[in-house]
Amino acid sequence: MKESPDTKKLEAMLRSSKLSSSGFMGTDNRAVGEIIDTDLAVLSELGYTPQELAKRMQQITDAATEALGNWAKIGDSHEAMIIEVKGRIPCPWPHAGNFAKRVTILRDIETKSQIKWSDLNIHLIAEHDFFEGKNSEFRIEPADLVKALY
Ligand SMILES: [Zn+2]
Repeated sequence: MKESPDTKKLEAMLRSSKLSSSGFMGTDNRAVGEIIDTDLAVLSELGYTPQELAKRMQQITDAATEALGNWAKIGDSHEAMIIEVKGRIPCPWPHAGNFAKRVTILRDIETKSQIKWSDLNIHLIAEHDFFEGKNSEFRIEPADLVKALY
């Protein structure tokens, strides 16, 4: 991601609690471009693009939505459920559009290890290659996500 005058504005928005009480950067002191580049490198090593992951996440969210509050079977080893959270949240990038705050939980049936994402996470990954900063509430480790999705 290129540094630009707008990047500073975006960084300030990502670190503020204006949209998300915990912010999008967590305790991560790296610049947003560095976070994105590092995560993209991890994904490229694993052979996936953020867009592929986001598409699979959306499919799982859709399947879980149809299960109406129950666990939906995802493949042989996983299940997913929607946690409804009231309200909507806009994307911190400067463009129109906001997202339901609902959360999808994807868990391994055997180990119960789980990963969660919001509708906004799917958008941030698909459109901005952004998995959030370390220790932010909705940070997703790309390697963990790949392991859970495939
Ligand atoms: Zn956006």
